[in-house]
Order: sequence, then structure tokens, then C-alpha cells
Amino acid sequence: ARKYVVKNYFEGVPKREDFEVVEYELPPLKDGEILVKTEWLSVDPYQRAYNYLFKVPYDQFGFQVGIVQESKDPKFSVGMKVVTHKGWSDYAIAKDGELSGPVGYVYPLPDLKGLSPSLGIGAVGMPGVTAYFGFLEICKPKAGETVVVTAAAGAVGSLVGQIAKIKGCKVIGFAGSDDKVEWLEKKLGFDKALNYKTVNIAEALKEAAPNGVDCYFDNVGGEISSIIINQMNKFGRVSVCGSIGSNNMTDLPKATILQPAIVSQQLTIRGFITGEWYERWHEGFSQLVDWIKSGQLKAGEHVTEGFDNIFDAFLGVLAGENKGKAVVKV
Ligand code: NDP
Repeated sequence: ARKYVVKNYFEGVPKREDFEVVEYELPPLKDGEILVKTEWLSVDPYQRAYNYLFKVPYDQFGFQVGIVQESKDPKFSVGMKVVTHKGWSDYAIAKDGELSGPVGYVYPLPDLKGLSPSLGIGAVGMPGVTAYFGFLEICKPKAGETVVVTAAAGAVGSLVGQIAKIKGCKVIGFAGSDDKVEWLEKKLGFDKALNYKTVNIAEALKEAAPNGVDCYFDNVGGEISSIIINQMNKFGRVSVCGSIGSNNMTDLPKATILQPAIVSQQLTIRGFITGEWYERWHEGFSQLVDWIKSGQLKAGEHVTEGFDNIFDAFLGVLAGENKGKAVVKV
């Protein structure tokens, strides 16, 4: 089998030399274990973020959709499709409940009703339930409210915006290219999308949301988030999902003062880790599948082919090359 191992603590943007692909012999299965052949692998920003925590080399972690080749767990039969969290590997031994990276997820691929199995690591996988629960449970959107989302064309952001539309909200998304802006407005039905690299963010937002912002789904943190939070209405809700905007920074800027806006507007700001709702993930999966099947939700994907190209696919996510979920077909 082959797997990617992280050799170094990332300084700034991760480099190819920070990874090593190792070949090794898989041991025979023990009771409770399954052997999984990877079909689809996920490349995600959190694989960059967790490098802050693991300052020693570790196997790269991450989700995959694969097929069970051998099984010593009666819950999983040979040929079954499963979602595991065994990192960037072509074959892996997985065990229900055993930790891999920060989590230990192994579960049968949800019933996708004929949709591509790759959605099991995208819109009907961890990013899907991140958008679903992270937005609905924390922002508690009401019809007619104005919702803003950053990294809006990404895996999580593109779903948050569309879920907000399903809930009857007005949706404004920030993304990093004109092509993404067009995709969000023309294909995904966002009311307004803005290229944060070329507009004056404060002015453009004031124009797009003249009545202020009620919900903000924050994927990036940093200055853009401070600007958005300063345009929030009374009792606004902020769901803090990620901080991709600062993950690669080696020199963090000074703090922006947000407290006047938080106090005067009586805001609720809450961070989350999507595993918080793990027991309810299948509830989210089945709703997400129904929305995709009915055409209300579009599950964009950015596919890279080949095990050898995983690192490039990962860098591509950090550089904003993806529209929708970035996945690798092994
Ligand atoms: P995306 O598919 O959104 O890919 C990342 C996107 O972030 C890029 O396409 C890029 O788009 C944007 N980006 C990159 N660098 C910057 C920057 N410096 N400033 C602003 N935007 C940037 O990834 P995900 O949907 O998987 O993840 C989105 C966020 O959600 C991340 O912060 C991630 O860590 C977080 N997350 C949190 C989870 C949780 O449980 N809390 C679970 C899953 C994800 P653009 O062209 O617009 O710049």
C-alpha cells in the first residue's frame, strides 16, 4: 500500500518536501478491522489547519470513499462502499471507533440514490453536514433575513448559501475570482456574489445589504470577517467555521477591535467542530440527498485524477482553484 506521511511542521504554505509517500506491506487483519481500497480521497483546508496541533510527523489524515476488500467486522461486508478517515492512502486498514488523526469515522456510504459516490466526502459527507448543522443550528436563519458567507464558492460555503436560499433568505457570498462570482450568481442562485480581491469590501457589502446582515457564516476569519461583523444587525448570529484566511500566515496581523459591534448589536458568535453533531450526521445526509435529487441544491465538484496528484490538489484548495468540493479520484 502507499500513503502520504507529513514529514515537517508547515511553515507558511505547505511544500511538497513536507510530505513523503511511503510504500509498505499491510499486516493481516485483526478482529474488528476491515481492509478498504480507496476510490475517492478528500483534500481539505483542515488538513492544513491541524498541522498547528501535530508538530511531529504523522500520517496524513482525511476522508475517503472506498470498497471493503476484506472484513473482520460483521457490520461491514466485502464489496460494501464505506466512508473512512484513513488519510491519503490507496489501501488502508480501518476499525470502527479507532482514532485516525483527530477522528475515527468509519460508516457505510449513505444511500445516495444513484448520485456519484464522491459526494460521500463532499456534499453528503463531512463538508455537507458542516454546512447543514453549522449554519442551521448556529445561525438559525429566518425567511427574509440577509445571510453572508465567505469562501462562498468552496465545498462548505457553496452549500451554506444554497441552504440559506432554500430557507428563504437573501444570500451574499464572497469569493476569490470573477469566475466564481458568476458561478454563484448564475448557477447556484446567490442574490449577490462579490470578488473580495477586487472590490472595496465594506462599500460593496453596504450596497448589497443596505438593511444590514443578520447571519454570517465565517469560513475565513481575519479582516474581511471584521468588516462583515461591523455591518451586522441587532441580534445577528455568526457561525465561525474556519480561518483559512490566516492558516498560511507566518506573521499574524494585530487584532481588530470587534467588541463595540458585538456589544451594541448584541451578537451571538459561536465556533463549532462538525463532529459535535456526529450522532445526527445521517439526518443531515438524507436531507442533503433529497435537496440534490430535487434540484434545489447543486453539489459542485472539482476533480483531480490520480494518487500522485494529491499534493497538487491540496495546494489548489489553499490557492482557491476549486469551485465546490475538491476531491481526488484515485
Ligand atoms: P473550500 O472548498 O472552501 O476551499 C477553500 C477556499 O478558501 C478556497 O477555494 C479559497 O477560495 C478560499 N481561500 C483560500 N485562501 C483564502 C484566504 N487567504 N482568504 C480567503 N479565502 C481563502 O474548503 P472547505 O469548504 O472544505 O472549508 C471552508 C472552511 O471551513 C475552512 O476554513 C475549513 O477549515 C472550515 N471547515 C471547518 C469545519 C468545522 O468543523 N468547523 C469542517 C470543515 C471545514 P477563494 O477563491 O474564494 O479565495
